[in-house]
Amino acid sequence: MAFPTVEVVESYSAAHNDYDAVILVGDYAQQLPAEFADFVERAQQNDQRIGKQPLLVTADVFGGRLITAPTGPLTRDYDDVRQLADAAGAAAHIAQQAGATKPLLVVFGTQSDARYGQAEAVAYWGLCQALYEPLEAREALGEDAIETISTVGVVGALDHEWLTAVEAGKRVARDLCGTEPERMAPPRFAEYCQQAFAHTPVKVTVIDDIQQLHHEYPLLMAVGRASLDVERHWPCVVRLEYCAPAAEQTLMFAGKGIVYDTGGADLKTGGHMAGMSRDKGGAAGVAGFMKTVAEMRPDTVNVVAELGVVRNSIGAEAFVADEIIKAHSGVRVRIGNTDAEGRLVLADLLSHLRSQAGNYPRPQLFSVATLTGHAALAKGPYSALVPNGPARATGLPERLWEAGEVYGDPTEISWSRREDFAFVAPRTKADDVLSSNNGSSAATPRGHQFPMAFLTIAAGLDHHGNDSDHPIPYVHVDIAGSGVQGGDWQHGKPSAAPVTCFAGAYLHK
Ligand SMILES: [Zn+2]
Repeated sequence: MAFPTVEVVESYSAAHNDYDAVILVGDYAQQLPAEFADFVERAQQNDQRIGKQPLLVTADVFGGRLITAPTGPLTRDYDDVRQLADAAGAAAHIAQQAGATKPLLVVFGTQSDARYGQAEAVAYWGLCQALYEPLEAREALGEDAIETISTVGVVGALDHEWLTAVEAGKRVARDLCGTEPERMAPPRFAEYCQQAFAHTPVKVTVIDDIQQLHHEYPLLMAVGRASLDVERHWPCVVRLEYCAPAAEQTLMFAGKGIVYDTGGADLKTGGHMAGMSRDKGGAAGVAGFMKTVAEMRPDTVNVVAELGVVRNSIGAEAFVADEIIKAHSGVRVRIGNTDAEGRLVLADLLSHLRSQAGNYPRPQLFSVATLTGHAALAKGPYSALVPNGPARATGLPERLWEAGEVYGDPTEISWSRREDFAFVAPRTKADDVLSSNNGSSAATPRGHQFPMAFLTIAAGLDHHGNDSDHPIPYVHVDIAGSGVQGGDWQHGKPSAAPVTCFAGAYLHK
């Protein structure tokens, strides 16, 4: 799988001269690097747009092309490192359209501000994000024909392995999230994972035996029930495992991989179905993080992931609201709405992880999902973190929040509250928990927080709070607002959230 290969260059003057463009990223109102100041000043005399928007200027630099990539001011309270990613991405499009295949990326003016500690890396990832082409496009037209920028030089004292490992993970995440529902039907999703992790230290196990799934993942199979008529849509669980040589802690992920969400019997109507091939963005993000793990091979961090890869179809066999289904945990779940299917899949995955957690040092659980429109409404383009008590006690959400800021994959923290648990409480003794109400999450108070209460109960994690003998930190991560660019689930490019956030928090030395 190709992507712009990175070459780390110590300084501009030390760069070899087969680069064919220079992309200069920074705030042009500040002092420019001496190598470029005269060129920019001269160009500004003819064109007042220089320094205000990305443009190509003819100059005596590599390839004769200087591409200005202004970030705007970087020092205001609300500026952050994503401005470098955006500027580098916009300039990358110009470089590509101009015919460059090997640009050199130069970032300036960020050294003194801690929030830009990863400026060059974030600019490189922003460039890769902008140049990424969908898997279907690469398969139809040829990767080399459409991803024409083959190599990017980046100036700075940088860790080559780190830049490459994160981009490799993001690429896996974008491919798995963005691809159409037949190309990435569950068996083909699993096959993609097997290929992505071949010859790596990550072990891939695909559970696709239908009887075994019925027995061990009953909620997941309720969601998948209507897909059983069509063999190529059959569900599976993809288990990914990395064992560290000197493990001190263990990250355990449940990923929501709904390859297509029709809503089920509570059918999505009024045009709300388009884009629902991206409802696998959580599983995609977890697989992407795993790819970064495979590249970085951390010494002390184990990572275990279970991805529930399921199509929520509609048909005579479709599950319906009011059904009561006994989860893997033994908890009796009353279905409130079949379009709230992701939490059902996650609950069984989390329950499996919970039951295995005792086998590993310092387990920390995460569910990652495009779960609720409410997360997008409440947080905009930020991943929502909803921690339990033990996660709060160990500073886990803060750790992710800080990494997200520096590495350009930001999050916001939400609180789990008693109202959330009251909302899903059983009305009679017929069941133990309600999966969902029947309104849209975006019109429901606490619409992205209360599903974490459901997950906690349905996965048996309510017995692992701060008040228990075996507390297990758990953070629910809702990427419904952050998973695609611009919040456009039909056409927005997958963002690969939260790959970089987790990589920054756990894998970067
Ligand atoms: Zn749904």
